[in-house]
Amino acid sequence: MSNPYRKDFPLLNQKQREKPLIYLDNAATTQKPEAVIKAVEDYYSEYNANPYRGLYDISEKATKEYEEARKVTAEFINAEEPAEIIFTRNATESLNLIAYSFGRSILKEGDEILIPISEHHSNLLPWQLLAKEKKAVLNYLYLDDNGHIKEDEIEAKITKNTRIVALAYVSNVLGTIYPVKKIIKKAHSVGAFTVLDCAQSIPHFPLDVSELDTDFAVFSGHKMLGPMGIGVLYGKRQLLEEMPPFLTGGEMIDFVSEQDATFAPLPQKFEAGTPNVGGAIGLMAAINYIKDVGYDKIQKAEEELSVYALDKLRELPYVTIYGEKSYSESRSGVISFNVSDVHPHDVSSLLDADGVCIRAGHHCAQPLMRYMQAAATCRISFYFYNTKEDVNAFIESLKKVRRWLGLGD
Ligand code: PMP
Repeated sequence: MSNPYRKDFPLLNQKQREKPLIYLDNAATTQKPEAVIKAVEDYYSEYNANPYRGLYDISEKATKEYEEARKVTAEFINAEEPAEIIFTRNATESLNLIAYSFGRSILKEGDEILIPISEHHSNLLPWQLLAKEKKAVLNYLYLDDNGHIKEDEIEAKITKNTRIVALAYVSNVLGTIYPVKKIIKKAHSVGAFTVLDCAQSIPHFPLDVSELDTDFAVFSGHKMLGPMGIGVLYGKRQLLEEMPPFLTGGEMIDFVSEQDATFAPLPQKFEAGTPNVGGAIGLMAAINYIKDVGYDKIQKAEEELSVYALDKLRELPYVTIYGEKSYSESRSGVISFNVSDVHPHDVSSLLDADGVCIRAGHHCAQPLMRYMQAAATCRISFYFYNTKEDVNAFIESLKKVRRWLGLGD
């Protein structure tokens, strides 16, 4: 089947062990289109220079493009202004920044932080450490068998003691799309602040921080066609201004004396040291590519693939699917499953022999694994450049797994 986008992705057009490469690990990182690779290459071959400091042409161009990337990112997520966009290394660093700068300055003993049990460790460990330090309480929202937050959990657990509600828009294990708007509204009604981890949503559907009214949002460039090493932290201006700096050093100061310092205005206050200019420029190219394709086409392609794959997986009696078993509006193209009597690592290694790349493990969500009583799972995750042929190749290879191991069909 022809997919008009595949030709833009050099890596997808190579072979592995003489077979076409089937890449189904997009939740871990996506492949990069030529436009992104070229934007990064142009920066390094034509105007690589340290931004802000150099009073010469290429440094000024580097500064201009870096700031343009901030503007394009701000518009993409409908932030009020570019200064509300802080460039970080990735979603993980953004979440740590929020916990250590914002969380640490507002939390008191007995305050509650609330997160779903399905959170990625990146949105769990910063809160766990902070809760210990502040003698605060880390509470969990638990899920039903379909991977949705239980209805009464939201009402029962967001209370006047709740100070921070932090959650993923989409689970990286179950693919569940959480009702974030409702949760943000409820959190604000009790005076709590919200942190939205959009690492698994922004590659697939729009993020409108103003409409959602979230206090913070984070994501990684590399999961949305951009380079590794560039991430985004969005925060409401007033909160960012009140927060103390996270990392300190060059670029983020206004004035430094022997015993004291004042800090640069936003966004530089949170961007200590030489920034990842090439990464930000690559992210801008990725955003422009996504805009050119259009989220509507991205969603349609992923929906077709997910429906098809879930249907095929359900036909295999030895496969257990976690979360929603069929495609729905509250489910994205991340599918976790297990094959009876076969460890997920073995499934993944056997599929690799056919050039099929899937993920296996705890997916940085160990509390969820324990909650689901699974030591680990296999995971496939789609992007719009995948095809039904990819799904067919995956299913054919999967069908061989138990036979290979002498376990029958
Ligand atoms: N949150 C979620 C939901 C994720 O899926 C991931 C990556 N698997 C992260 C956070 C962390 O992203 P990164 O490793 O790019 O910081």
